Amino acid sequence: MSLVIVGSLAFDTIQTPWGRREKIVGGSCTYCSLAASFFTAPKIVGVVGKDFPPDVIEFFKSRNIDTSGLEVRTGKTFHWEGRYGYDPNQRETIKTEMNVFQDFRPVLPASYRTADIVFLANIDPDLQDDILTQVSHPALVAMDTINFWIAHKPDSLWRVLQKVNIFFANEEEIRMLTRETNLIKAGKKILSSGPKLAVIKKGEHGALVFGQNFVFGMLALPCEDVVDPTGAGDSFAGGFLGYLDKARSLARKDIRKATVYGSVLASFAIEDFGFERFKTLKPNEIQSRFRQFRRLVSF
Ligand code: AMP
Repeated sequence: MSLVIVGSLAFDTIQTPWGRREKIVGGSCTYCSLAASFFTAPKIVGVVGKDFPPDVIEFFKSRNIDTSGLEVRTGKTFHWEGRYGYDPNQRETIKTEMNVFQDFRPVLPASYRTADIVFLANIDPDLQDDILTQVSHPALVAMDTINFWIAHKPDSLWRVLQKVNIFFANEEEIRMLTRETNLIKAGKKILSSGPKLAVIKKGEHGALVFGQNFVFGMLALPCEDVVDPTGAGDSFAGGFLGYLDKARSLARKDIRKATVYGSVLASFAIEDFGFERFKTLKPNEIQSRFRQFRRLVSF
């Protein structure tokens, strides 16, 4: 199978109660593809400015991430600034600077067009839509978003949503998009507009997966030191879809396992600032945490 991921590559300025980092590399595509790379060889689509560190692109390649769909343009890389308080589930966006994303029109390399799984990570929903016109018959299309796009481009977002099989969102986003406070009602509203599954990420409370006649819940690993929650959602999606790509299956038992692998990758992402933790993470640590998750919920 093969997995194509389109999303943002960014400089993130992050403030948490444990410290501040200025312009460290982040972005939905970055977190998601690194998390997925523990299971498969993802192909990425995105744009960065000339200021983006070449060694990060080399690091992607060293992790078997195909970067032929990554454009390096004259100009500045997308910049996002966010702040977290003591509740890691609550974050405030301080700044969003589109920079090279402003007039980016992705063109998929020929080798990407027959992808089995396409993930439209958090990015302008018009770009997400554009990508879908360039792929032929993927077995699975999933998408994610962020409150910025729900506020600025709700119509485009609903249009893409109708064309995807899985919708990932955190609690705040799904409530904002559906205007439902109850998550079951919100999930149902999503399912009635197209997707077969709605995956609701609840930060330190885990994740809920909704389908027609299917509900699966997973706890998050109780974690004492959440250093930087940024990228948890994207890492969740990367672990989830990377596992499905490797398993070559969309069976319910594999959706459950994918949810656990998503939670495992998210639990590592938050242990350090940026994608630092993914630099040292080893496959055996993933397996051992998978077993830890199993013990957490078996009774
Ligand atoms: P997450 O914590 O997984 O929800 O995603 C955080 C990542 O999303 C950060 O690394 C940001 O660079 C990226 N991001 C923030 N706002 C946007 C936006 N409007 N469009 C695309 N990516 C964004």
